Amino acid sequence: MTSPASKQTGSTSEQPFEYQSVEVLKGVGPSVAAKLEKLGIFRVQDLLFHLPLRYEDRTRVVPMGSLRHGQHAVVEGTIEHAEVRYGGKRRSGRSLLCHVADGTGSVLLRFFYFNAAQQANLIKGVRLRCYGEARYGYHQVEMVHPEYRRLFDQQEAIVEETMTPVYAKTEGVHQTLLRNLVDQALQKLGDERLQEYVPEAILKQYGFPELQQAIQLLHHPPPETSLGLLEQCKHPAQQRMIFEELLAHQLSLVKLRQRVQKQQAVRLSLSAKQRKLFEGALEFDLTPAQQTVIDEILDDLAKPAPMMRLLQGDVGSGKTVVAACAVLAAVASGKQAAIMAPTEILAEQLYGNFCNWFSAKPCVLLTGKDKGRLRESKLEAIANASASIVVGTHALFQQDVEFKRLALMIVDEQHRFGVHQRLALIDKGRFSGYIPHQLIMTATPIPRSLAMTAYADLDYSVIDALPSGRKPVTTVVISEQRRQEVLDRVARACANGEQAYWVCTLVEESEVLQCQAAEETARILQLALPGLSIGLVHGRMKQDQKNDVVYQFKQGAIKLLVATTVIEVGVDVPTASLMVIENAERLGLAQLHQLRGRVGRGTKQSACVLIYSPPLSDRGKQRLAVLRGTNSGFVIAQKDLEMRGPGEVLGTRQTGLMQMHIADIVRDAHWLKVVNTVSRHILQQHPDKVQPLIRRWLGHAERYGSV
Ligand code: ADP
Ligand code: MG
Repeated sequence: MTSPASKQTGSTSEQPFEYQSVEVLKGVGPSVAAKLEKLGIFRVQDLLFHLPLRYEDRTRVVPMGSLRHGQHAVVEGTIEHAEVRYGGKRRSGRSLLCHVADGTGSVLLRFFYFNAAQQANLIKGVRLRCYGEARYGYHQVEMVHPEYRRLFDQQEAIVEETMTPVYAKTEGVHQTLLRNLVDQALQKLGDERLQEYVPEAILKQYGFPELQQAIQLLHHPPPETSLGLLEQCKHPAQQRMIFEELLAHQLSLVKLRQRVQKQQAVRLSLSAKQRKLFEGALEFDLTPAQQTVIDEILDDLAKPAPMMRLLQGDVGSGKTVVAACAVLAAVASGKQAAIMAPTEILAEQLYGNFCNWFSAKPCVLLTGKDKGRLRESKLEAIANASASIVVGTHALFQQDVEFKRLALMIVDEQHRFGVHQRLALIDKGRFSGYIPHQLIMTATPIPRSLAMTAYADLDYSVIDALPSGRKPVTTVVISEQRRQEVLDRVARACANGEQAYWVCTLVEESEVLQCQAAEETARILQLALPGLSIGLVHGRMKQDQKNDVVYQFKQGAIKLLVATTVIEVGVDVPTASLMVIENAERLGLAQLHQLRGRVGRGTKQSACVLIYSPPLSDRGKQRLAVLRGTNSGFVIAQKDLEMRGPGEVLGTRQTGLMQMHIADIVRDAHWLKVVNTVSRHILQQHPDKVQPLIRRWLGHAERYGSV
């Protein structure tokens, strides 16, 4: 997110250089500056912290005889033979081949695109220095389109003095420009010094180099630096930066929390009698886990500081009814509550729940599809508070949505909402000096240590047990070749009065393809199971159609629901008891777990059939075995973490939950404890360091601080 504030952070050179705008550098005018912003680079300092993605070793010439397949290397030799060959599969129909030898071996250079000048230059006897990737070809080692330079003089300047950095770039800002700008920034760094914020004791204890040194090294690693360590982000210089970045993030969230806590919220209270009444009217008894969490929430709501709580509970653990208790406290206190869901299907479903539980209270559903007069009348009801409970999608964010007395904001299925959205919510709900309480609900299982970092601005509640009477879903893994057996099973289940999901998954990003595949599957299934009423939902259907199909499925008119992964999040049809997932080997464990969570919600014994296309790799087998072995989201998350290693368990990358330069809270989780301790130390002992540190790493996201 770009903020005008950070752009204004002066372009005058009187400021410490760290805060100077990149425009003070040679070669940066307004247009380049605008492009750099896309990389989060506003100030000179940001360039220093724009660390290379990887490195190329051009510091030494590698003997051709020792080249390994896949190795990127500089080689040097003489052209022994060059020829243009015609034919072949390439478009141009010809290629230039140069055999280069250095006495230890030889390399074949292949150029599919070349001009007359190149052809004239690359002839027998010419000495070349090349950089490229060595590959084992048919007869010998090859390099396709290497970078090359003609050598005229035996003593020609030796290769690079340090490893060559490769940066993340963006359109219009190429590698050479970035390298040049970083070098200018490093030059300035030579004259002035960057503040060191990591306590000396920590530097010592973990063998971290000082900031200045680390930055130098990371942009220009000397030849003896281990590329292996750098590639795995394990070099002490990287570890140090990772540590500092995690620290900055932690501090920013703690600060955010402190700021929010200083604000006023309306106290919401619920009498024991009202609570009893509500619970008594439910069609089930709340579990002890739900009760505990409700207690925690009601405690928070009764305080004059805004609640900021994350509620985590596995799929099907019953978070919605917990949310309803919070809503009850708001409406009982004469205030408004808003509940936001990530999709219209879910919003619709929540709306259904709330209408049912609060039949006496006016509920409004606001989604993107509300238009014209209808929308206006809803907005009016929200603005004059005749609507006490407002359920919606992102549409709730829109400018013209104004609440009269919003006192509670609930966000369901949090993994699609990042810190920024949380902040936007606060703004939305501000009324006469108060900000709303916030409850954020997620089914993404996160180990506690991670949660404490990713959500350091939030309190944390967990529903750690499913409602009793649930039978764990039985999971089987079946090869695509035994599809017929699966069909028979679906037919039998539906004949027995059960309902089933059939989930089509395609790994392709294209939604069009996914939807086509689902349509095709529905057609084939209908042919195979002629008597069965089959419905279809996918992402490209109109919202009305989707809702209609889901509704019919809920009512039992549709027995088999063919779907893309749109049903992944939250759809609740307790009578469904069979889930078939195609191409299961291609999905992440967390996603499979979410999908499977759609069944096993009633008291019936439910089953999940994971279909895979053989051959299945060993890892693939292991992964599916994890699902067969457990129904616990936490166990699955933990295994996923172990098996994927540095992965994206949280999906933080996509959500922007924590956008970091170099750290990865999953891969670098082992630092979190120390980071926690150190951040507390800094807050207490060196409060003056907090802002600069946050600014250094999150400068472009200054909204963090502006609540
Ligand atoms: P999630 O946590 O995945 O959002 P839901 O709130 O949708 O779960 O609840 C899943 C299902 O379990 C719903 O049908 C809900 O009515 C039911 N449910 C919730 N709490 C209980 C309970 N204590 N006992 C029995 N069923 C419950
Ligand atoms: Mg839910």
